[in-house]
Parts: sequence; C-alpha cells; structure tokens
Amino acid sequence: MLPEKINLLGLDAPALTHLVGQWGGKPFRAKQLERWVHQRGIANFEDMTDLARDFRAQLAEHCLVQAPPVMTCQNSTDGTRKWLFDVGQGNAIESVFIPEDDRGTLCISSQAGCTLGCRFCSTGHQGFNRNLTAAEIIGQLWWARHELMQNSGSARLSSSGNPLAGTDDNRVISNVVMMGMGEPLLNYDQVLVALRLMLDDNAYGLSRRRVTVSTSGIVPMIDRLARDCPVALAVSLHAPNDPLRDELVPINKKYPIAALLDACNRYLEHAPRDFITFEYVMLDGVNDTDHHARELIGIARRVRCKINLIPFNPFPGPQLSRSSPARIRIFSQHLMDAGIVTTVRKTRGDDIDAACGQLAGEVLDRARLREKMARKISIPIKEIRA
Ligand code: SAH
Ligand code: SF4
Repeated sequence: MLPEKINLLGLDAPALTHLVGQWGGKPFRAKQLERWVHQRGIANFEDMTDLARDFRAQLAEHCLVQAPPVMTCQNSTDGTRKWLFDVGQGNAIESVFIPEDDRGTLCISSQAGCTLGCRFCSTGHQGFNRNLTAAEIIGQLWWARHELMQNSGSARLSSSGNPLAGTDDNRVISNVVMMGMGEPLLNYDQVLVALRLMLDDNAYGLSRRRVTVSTSGIVPMIDRLARDCPVALAVSLHAPNDPLRDELVPINKKYPIAALLDACNRYLEHAPRDFITFEYVMLDGVNDTDHHARELIGIARRVRCKINLIPFNPFPGPQLSRSSPARIRIFSQHLMDAGIVTTVRKTRGDDIDAACGQLAGEVLDRARLREKMARKISIPIKEIRA
C-alpha cells in the first residue's frame, strides 16, 4: 500500500520547516510554501511558481493540500453562510460565516459531535463521533476564506494590492470563533496547531484578540491554553449556581463554578483582552429569573467579564424553550444596572439553521440520509424532514 500523503493544511510553521528541512530545504522555502497554501489558497503545487521545479515535484509526490469535501453550502437572507463538510464515515461538521458591518466572523467546529452532553445543545445530543484533525479544523477556514474572497472579487484580497499581505484590515474573515460543534479544549493538540496557524503572519495573520476559543470549562486545559496560546476566551456558563449548572452543563460536576472562576482569573493574566466572555443561554423558567440574575451578578463580580446572553435556539428533543424577549430585556437590565457589560446575541442565519447550538440536528439527519443513500435504501420524506 502506498504511504499516505501529508496534508499540509495540518502543519504549523515549525512542522513545515522540519518537513522541508528533511529534503534539504531552507526555512524560507517553508515560509513561501506556507504563504502559497494559506494566504493564496493554492492546492496545486504546479501553480506555486516561485518554488523550484524539483521541490514542487517532491511536494506533489509526498504531500497534498485538502480541506474536507463540502457537502452543501447554504446562504441565509441575512448574509450568513453555512457549509456542511464531510469528514468521512457518515460524519459531517459545519462552519458558519457571519458578516457584520465592521467584521466578518467565521465560526468553526473542533469535533464531530461532543462528549459533554449539555442539555440545551444539539451537538451534545448527537453524541461523540471523533476529534477533528488540525487539517480538518484549519481546512474550514482555508475553504471559507478562499470561497468568500472569490465571491467578493480579488479586490478584497488585500487593501494594499499585495495578495501576500498578512495584516489586511479589509479581510473578508476578520475574526474566528471556535463556537461550532465540539469542545475545543478536549481536542487540544489539534486545536493548538490550528490556532497557531490562525495567528501566523505567513498563514492567516489574525490577532489574538480576534480569535476566540469557547469552552464549557475544562479547567486544566484553560491553564494550558494560557501558557501555550492565549487567545480570547469565552466560557459557557449558562447557570449561576452549581446544582443548576450540574444539570445543564454536566462537566460542572468535575469542574464546579468556583474552580472555573479561579481558572478564568488565572487566564486573565495572559489573555489578549482584559475580560472573559461568559456565555449564558436564556432558557424559559430554567435560568432566567430575577433570582438567577442576582446570583449571576455575584459571579460576575468575581472575574473581569462581559456577559453574552444567547436566546436559546430550539431543536427537536430537549423540552426547553427560549425566554421571552421581555424576560431577556429585564434580565439583561438587572445585570447592566449592576454595572456588568451585557450583550444579547443576535440570532443570525435562522432560515438555514445556522444559529448557535443548532449545528448538529441537521447534520444528524443528513449524515443518516447519506448513509442510507449509500446503501440505496429509500427513506420516507417524513423522516428526512424530521
Ligand atoms: N463546546 C464549546 C463550544 C461550542 S458551543 C462550548 O460549549 O463553549 C458554542 C456556544 O453555543 C456555547 O456557548 C454553547 O453553550 C452555545 N449553545 C449550544 N447550544 C445552544 C442552543 N441550543 N442555543 C443557544 N446557544 C447554544
Ligand atoms: Fe459540547 Fe459545547 Fe454543546 Fe456542551 S455546549 S455539548 S460542550 S458543544
């Protein structure tokens, strides 16, 4: 059997330098290669015209540049775009691009499924399939950036006109958030490679402030991230006391709120922003009363933070519902009256099920659909839509 080719999308700068060095290449060759792959989005080694012919032949023999294949791409009326990527064996993951006036945010996945089973999360209900490789994680950014740049015309490639410019404020994707499917800190090594590429000036050149890892609170890994690659941190809090959080975010039984807040305070010593974002999904009658608001104020006083209230996005199954707009207004007013910076997340991409926490419901159906199609079994329409 032929040895598997190395997917260059999964190699950070030191790994690329090492690879090229094995063939006698100087470090600057690795930088050139990195720019071709990530900045220009080129997958065909023949097109990398300033690389020596022999080097290109070596690359073609041993390497490839390959994002996971796109199964579907959907556009919302509000400009949000969602890609469904095939990661093999009936598994699919999703990425969402959210354009705003002053930025373009790409939300990417770190795992196919999730082990943690949060009550209100569609990915959690799907169960765990597997960790994504660094190539699959960065492949989502590689693909989305390339496709969005093509759509918006080459003028958007760089305000300086230099397609290799790594610090372009006019870039289509200005922010990346790891808020798609999966728990990034439970796929730490692969996520770390991807984060380093996002920050690398020869790759995506994003500033640490514009890359956010969202975690349900894996305390020891928060400390490791602080040491290895401190980017902006969002923490899925969702409940202001341990008994409730134990139910909504079961990992709380292992890392309760007090330990999590200590980890947040330690992280702040390294963080690129001087606050942690606490995400708080608004669940009708469950965590949204005035009493909960008062408890949350107590927590927010223990860590420099902003609170992002997320109206619950429903999906079939969990028997939870979204707090009313009036309740969300009152709840956020309590927090703001206490001097806590509070935002309410706008729901984007509703018409294409691209909102937070909805990313797996459809995947499950599609994955099942694909599997069954592969086995050529016909499925009643009702089940496809379910
Ligand atoms: N595992 C990580 C990152 C992925 S989830 C984490 O839990 O932080 C990204 C965000 O979407 C988290 O804050 C998560 O709690 C939130 N979320 C999950 N399901 C949701 C739903 N149904 N409605 C609204 N937000 C949801
Ligand atoms: Fe996993 Fe995050 Fe969903 Fe919880 S909210 S199940 S940690 S993806």
